[in-house]
Amino acid sequence: MDPERLVQCPYDKNHQIRACRLPYHLVKCRKNNQKIARELATCPYNARHRVPKQELKLHIATCENKVSPEVLEGKRIAPVCSKTQSSLYECGEQVCSSLKL
Ligand SMILES: [Zn+2]
Ligand SMILES: [Zn+2]
Repeated sequence: MDPERLVQCPYDKNHQIRACRLPYHLVKCRKNNQKIARELATCPYNARHRVPKQELKLHIATCENKVSPEVLEGKRIAPVCSKTQSSLYECGEQVCSSLKL
């Protein structure tokens, strides 16, 4: 990924941040946008990815940092919500509640 690439701040569409600065910006901007921050979910593949909860599924499907479930299961305890059709994803609490249909 090009560190000079401009990416859009998830909290404010008017913010265009260089990719290398984004982590710092997100910390600051989240404080200024707590209301929006609550509506954002964190990508299970990359904590730097913040997406609106309703777009999380879409993001997960297209995430550039997506890894196979086997890799995730190697790092974590087995998913708790095997009833959902989300077996493709890591089943962190946050993810599970967002995926509930
Ligand atoms: Zn921002
Ligand atoms: Zn992601």
